[in-house]
Formats: sequence, structure tokens, C-alpha cells
Amino acid sequence: MTRLTGYKWHSLSAEQVVDLLETDPDKGLTTEEVKRRLESFGPNVITKKKGRGPLMRFLLQFNQPLIYILLISSIVTALLREWVDSGVIFGVVLVNAIIGYLQEAKAVSALSALAKTMTTRAMVIRDGQKKEVPSTEVVPGDVVLLSSGDKVPADIRLYGVRDLRIDESALTGESLSVEKSADPVPADTLLADRKNMAYATTLVTYGRGLGVVTATGDHTEVGRISELISTAEELETPLTRKISEFSKILLYVILGLAAMVVAVGMLRGKPFLDMFMAAVALAVGAIPEGLPAAVTITLAIGVSRMAKRRAIIRKLPAVETLGSTTVICSDKTGTLTQNQMTVQEILAGGVWYEVSGSGYNPFSGKILKEGEKIELDNYPELKLCLLAGALCNDSVLKNDGENWEVQGDPTEGALLVAAIKGGLDLEQIKRFYPRLDTIPFESEFQYMATLHDTYDREKRLVFVKGSVEAITHRCSVQLSANGEFSELKKDDIAKRVHLMAEQGLRVLAFAIKEMPGNLSSITHEDVSSGLIFLGLVAMLDPPRVEAIEAVNHCKAAGIKVKMITGDHAATATAIARKLGLYDPGVSDEIATKVLTGKDLETMTNKELSDQVDKTVVFARVAPEQKLRLVEALQSKGNVVAMTGDGVNDAPALKRADIGIAMGITGTEVSKEAADMVLTDDNFKSIVAAVEEGRGVFDNLTKFIVWTLPTNIGEGLVILAAILLGVTLPILPVQILWINMTTAGFLGLMLAFEPKELDIMRRPPRDPRIPILTRSLATRILLVGGLLLIVAFGLFKWELTHGSSLAQARTVAVNVFVMVELCYLFNCRSLTKSVFHLGFFSNPWVFGGTTAMLLLQLVYTYFGPMNLVFQSQPISIESWARIFAVGIMSFFIVEIEKWINSLKSNGSH
Ligand code: ADP
Ligand code: MG
Repeated sequence: MTRLTGYKWHSLSAEQVVDLLETDPDKGLTTEEVKRRLESFGPNVITKKKGRGPLMRFLLQFNQPLIYILLISSIVTALLREWVDSGVIFGVVLVNAIIGYLQEAKAVSALSALAKTMTTRAMVIRDGQKKEVPSTEVVPGDVVLLSSGDKVPADIRLYGVRDLRIDESALTGESLSVEKSADPVPADTLLADRKNMAYATTLVTYGRGLGVVTATGDHTEVGRISELISTAEELETPLTRKISEFSKILLYVILGLAAMVVAVGMLRGKPFLDMFMAAVALAVGAIPEGLPAAVTITLAIGVSRMAKRRAIIRKLPAVETLGSTTVICSDKTGTLTQNQMTVQEILAGGVWYEVSGSGYNPFSGKILKEGEKIELDNYPELKLCLLAGALCNDSVLKNDGENWEVQGDPTEGALLVAAIKGGLDLEQIKRFYPRLDTIPFESEFQYMATLHDTYDREKRLVFVKGSVEAITHRCSVQLSANGEFSELKKDDIAKRVHLMAEQGLRVLAFAIKEMPGNLSSITHEDVSSGLIFLGLVAMLDPPRVEAIEAVNHCKAAGIKVKMITGDHAATATAIARKLGLYDPGVSDEIATKVLTGKDLETMTNKELSDQVDKTVVFARVAPEQKLRLVEALQSKGNVVAMTGDGVNDAPALKRADIGIAMGITGTEVSKEAADMVLTDDNFKSIVAAVEEGRGVFDNLTKFIVWTLPTNIGEGLVILAAILLGVTLPILPVQILWINMTTAGFLGLMLAFEPKELDIMRRPPRDPRIPILTRSLATRILLVGGLLLIVAFGLFKWELTHGSSLAQARTVAVNVFVMVELCYLFNCRSLTKSVFHLGFFSNPWVFGGTTAMLLLQLVYTYFGPMNLVFQSQPISIESWARIFAVGIMSFFIVEIEKWINSLKSNGSH
């Protein structure tokens, strides 16, 4: 079997397809055959086709309004035969483009590398057994099982479907899910209508399916449509968007000022050439060349810091938004709790049993009645309960010598453990009651049912387990002690459930129903009524210890935490209390008010908006209702982070400001919809990401506050010179030197600034407030003005004390660099004194400043540099004055910060 192309799989019968692909529809391929095919067909990956070529991406770097100004300046200066200036300006543009290009490429590859760490898995049948394998190892002929939430791993011809619906929007653009079937369709059927095919990268939204792989990797339909998968990573964020808007305004300001400079100069009778160069100096000075690159770098550093703390960013804007998060809506099970279930109590036939031992080791404990170990055969009602739990179950208990672990749902794992503790032999019961059909557990229905054969030809059995409400709703009688049926006492059961749930226990109910002997499959309809209630189990799922601490961090950081769960209200409340989710100040009655899915159904959006802020626990919530919750919270001005793992969580994840999917238990569909994926499913990692997000935003703000005064100062110096009619204290090339070197060696070091200690003790940043608050804007103007005074002042001083023009300009350049250098230390914190931070807590700053000082020595004393930049060696005394103004400006800013902090403390 080597050639697979040319077949119209959808028009062939299932038998033909299976024959052609030389596979077995029930047993699948053998391991050896898979190995052989993997070699001949290659791994199931789609080669990434390049979106834009590297050249195009490089050229796009020049496509920025501010860069146009520089390019025009460079061309005009060249026409004026100012070769050095033209060369340097062009050089700067080029360097800038190269840095921008490299940064962008790095950010993109970092994001896609992270994406790759999240491998998709596929469920296949090989050697007659179900097996989970990485999607990359799927080969043509593999028999694949699809279920709701999966990403289809390859192109598949389906031959068994059960209510299967697939979202093919990525392939066909059709946004509604398509219902699938197993029947052949005519050969000329269009792709979108081939109901018996499932295509790679589409998403299973409902039901289950079974089929055989017809094509993998580049041979799949998506593999052939290149544009689809050249996922152009989105590098734009709210902040970068604001910056480019700001640049556009700046462009006009600069053009206006430049025109004014030329006009004023000409009126004064200065030569056009000089005035043009002054305008160029103004333009290059006022443009913050380093800003876009610095933003991307800081964001990229944030992405990698978050990844180290188990939060994988899928969409770059999330890095920024995380810092403004005001509400985290978290699932309970697995995220806030450990998802380590242990059955504690069982109620069967009206009798209570205790279960001893903990963890998944089934030999760590026993089932006891009034403290005595029981003999299962004497308690048939208990036995039926355990049978229901063990048979209506998709999980497997594994023992690797030492440890016992569960593959599958921990809730089900705990039931297997309990069954063994009670004395059931799992292998044996599976042989006695072979399973014929399943209705899998889905949060929206809250139950699972399985149909089993018995040795009695007249009857088959359905076992059902699920939430107490879902089960009792379907029962009319219950099994009492001594095997008699009695009327189902729902109130009584509800009371008992409440008692267990109040201790934080998760309660499941069991039921059974007899079916005719010829039934081979079951539907929701079959189990909608007439069940016999068997009993209850209560299991413990302790809160994660780290989550308790993380919740405390959230409180200090002004972030509200809400629990959203499918579980019982009382269970959820008890866990919420253990986690410390309730405010201590508020009365118990108000604090512990729970909204349930039922409440949500009857509430209007307006009512929900009014309640949503006050409510901490949302119980028995169906995934579809999460979307409304997100919207209600957002309507109250919240920035919402929302977790989810199932298919039906996807809309809420998309709508939330930060959609968070679970890396371990989450479905592919939810991951696809999310902005961020947790590799450990842990609430703590969400809080860590928020903390990093705040750090990133802080550092971005610090960079902006640091960088803008230089541009203002340079602009002002040029303007002042023109208006006063004196020689330019700094030339365009010198300005470019200052801007490029200080951005790289000084400003960038702020991206490595450690997070400030109080970062999680202040309220979230309101995203509607501008980045530059009034006090920060004042500081920028202050430093800009200061630069004007000291640079202009020392320039004049040098000239009047006998220095040459070149020396005076060298002093002016060194003043700019020195003030920026000292100001860098100021900018390490926007509010606190550097001495408070610890002067040495960011070693990068020291490396950068040392390098910068050495560079300035080269600039001042190295011959070739003197030639290019028209610099000239200066005296020790000049250096002393330069240092003096640098240190002076440092203290001025520290004092300004101090005064500001007094003011803001006073206003509290
Ligand atoms: P959560 O994940 O928030 O705890 P779920 O939607 O998973 O909520 O579960 C809701 C309810 O459904 C649980 O309280 C439990 O009674 C029941 N349940 C949970 N898992 C299963 C399962 N595998 N089979 C049957 N019922 C289940
Ligand atoms: Mg669950």
C-alpha cells in the first residue's frame, strides 16, 4: 500500500475503504504496521508554509510614518551631498528595521514554539486496543475514535457515528457545526457536504465517531490549502495599537515644527541648507525610534516568564490584558481543588457505610459498617451500588509497582477504588456484564449511562450515575434494605445530600434500569424515567493548598475570585469557604449566597448584572451559562479571566478578556478558543500570570517614561537654538547616536527589571486610564525641560570658556547620555525611591550603564568616531560638570517622586 491519492474516499463504501487501506475496522493496525507506515508516509504534521516571505516582512518594517520622515531626511541630505549625515540616518533606519525584524521573528517563533509544546493527542485502536497517541504519530489506515472536544487529527472516512457534529469553519468557513453520517455520498460531492468525512484540524463539537484515516500531514485537505495554516501570529496588542496612534499624531506635530523651524530660520536670513538640517535634527530627535522594538521585547520577555510559571500564552495581547484583570472566574474541580478524589461514605439501601484509606491505592482501606469491615455478599444493595460505580465508568486504575494512578476522570477513578475496597473484582464483573453501549458524561446532562449484557437472555441492564438531581429526577422507586422497592423519598435524600455536601464532599447518585433483552443501544430517552434509585457516594476532593495562598494574593491585589462549577451548591460553598473566597467582613448570609444555573435561567440580564459582583459561588452552572456570566461581569466594567475545559466553554473563553484553558484536562476545542493555557491546570498559575502581566505593564510604562524625555529634550534644544538664532548644540547624527545607543544599552535594561514587591498589593490597573497619568506626564516634561537647560547651559558654558564648537557639542551629547543614564535609575520604579528597591537589584542596569559609559569614551576620544560624529576630546573638568548635572537631575527626580508619594498618600 503506497499510493493513496486519487481515491474518492467519500464515495466508497466503508468496506472498500478499509480494504484499500489494508486495515481492520475493529482491531486497527498492528504496532509493526504503524511503524512501517510512519516510515513510508512520514509523521502527521503539516509543513508550515510561509505566510509572508522574509523580504516582505523586512520591508514592512519601513512601513511606519516615523520611519518615512527618517527616510526622506536621508534622501534629501544625500541630495545635499551631506554624505555622513545621510549615511548615519539611513544606517539608523536600517539597524532599526533589522532589530524590528529580528524581534518580530523571535516573538513569532517563541509563540509558535510554545504552541508546539501543546501536543494534540488522538485516540486510536491498534492491536485491538484503545490507545492514546500523539496526533503526529497517526498514519493512514489507523482507526481513530473521535469524541466531543477533540481536534480531528487527520482526514478520516467515518464508518460509525453517534450524533457526531463537527465544526469545520476553519476549512469551509461554515460557522455552524455539520452533522456527520457514515453513508457514502456521490463522488462529485463538494468538500463541505461530504458528511462521511472528518477533516484534519476541524473540531468535534458533539457526539462520537469512528473512522479510518485516509490522509495525513500535507496530504490532508488543510495541508493542501497553504494559507490556512500559515497562522500569521498576531503581534498587535492594545498598547502597540495606542503607540502607533500616538506616532501618527507625533508625525504631524514633528512635520509642523520642522516646517516652522525652516520658516523661522529663513525669515532670519539663515541659509536654507542649515535650516533644513535643523529640521532634520528636530525630526530625528523627536522620534522615539526604540519604542516599538522595546515594547515587543518586553512583551516577549513576559511571555517566557509566564511560560516558566506554567501559563502558556496563545495570544500576545493577553500578556498585557492580564495585568488589568479584575475578576478571575475559576472552575472548582481540578483548578481550585486537587482533583484527587476519595470516596468517604456510601449510602445504599438506606444504610450508611464508611470507606477507609486515602489516595488511589485500593488496598489502603476497606468498606466499613459501624466500624466493622463488611462482607460484600451480605449486603446486596451495597454491591449493586458499587457495581453501578464500577461499570458505568470509563476510567482505568493503573499500578506501576509503587504508585496507583487513574487514567481518565478522577471522579470515576475513585469509584473503581471504592469498588475494589468493597471486594469487587473489576475484571470479573466486566466479563459478567459486557458493555454494549454508552451515553458519556457531559456537564450539561450531569449523568452517564451504560448498557450491559447479562447472562439472562430476557433482560439487559442500564447503570446510570450522575448528580443527585439528575438521577432522582429520573427515578420513581428506590431500593431499600433487604432488597425491597419503596417509594423514592426525594426530600429525605436531598437532606442527606446536603449534610454531606456541607462538608465539602462531592456527591454522586446511582440508579439502575432493566431493559428488554434485544436492546443494543441506548438514548437519553431510554433513561429519562423509570429508574430505580440505588444510593449515593460522597467523595472528598480537598482544596489545593497553593490555591488558598493564591486566593489571598488575589484579595490583596484587588482581584475578585469567583467559583463556577457544575457541582452542588453546598459542596461548592464549603470548598469556597475552605479556600477563603468569602470576605470576612460581610455577614454570612450575604457572603454565602449562591446563584445556581436554575437561578440564572430565570434572571434577566439586568438582574444578573446587579447580582454578579456580589456573588462568589455559581453552582450547577451549565457551560452555556458561562457566557452570560462573562457578559454580566463585563457590563460592570470588569476585566474578566475565565477558565474552561469543555467544548461548550469555548464561547465564554472567547468572550472573556482572558480565556484560560486547561492543559491537562482541557479539550482541544477549549484550548483553541483560549488566550492562555495552563500546563498544570492550577489556579495558582493564573495568579502567577496576572502577576507577571502586571510586571510587564510596569516595565513597559517605565520604558516609556524613561524614553520620552530624551525626545522632548532634543526637540526643545533644537527649537530653542533656532528661535534664539544660535548654532545647533547637537547635530542630527549626534542625536541619532544618543537615541540608538541609550535605547539599547540603557532603556532596554528596564525590561529585565524585577517585579516590585507590592505588585500584588495594589488594585488592578484600569485599562481605560491612559498609560501616562498626569503625574508621569509631568515627570516626563520635567526631565525634558531639565535636559534642555543643562545641555544648552553647558554647551554655552563651554563655548564662552574657550572650547571649540565640536567640544561644546561633545559635552552636550555627553550631558544627554549622562542625564538619561542617571534617570534610568529613577525609572526603575515609578513611585518608590530606588534606594527602597535596592540599588543593585537589577544587575542588567549595571551592565548597561557600564557599557554606555565606555561607549561615550569611545565616542569622545576615538579618532574615527570624532570624524563621523564630529566629536572631539574634552577635559576632565568638563566631565566633572557632566557628572554633576547627571547626579543633580537624579536627585531632582527622586524629590519629585517623594513629593508625589506624599500627595497620593495624603489623598487616600
Ligand atoms: P465540576 O467540574 O465543576 O465539578 P461537573 O460538571 O464536572 O462539575 O460535574 C457536575 C456534577 O455531575 C457533579 O457534581 C457530579 O454529581 C456529576 N458528575 C461529575 N463527573 C461525573 C461522571 N464522570 N459521571 C457521572 N456524573 C458525574
Ligand atoms: Mg468536571
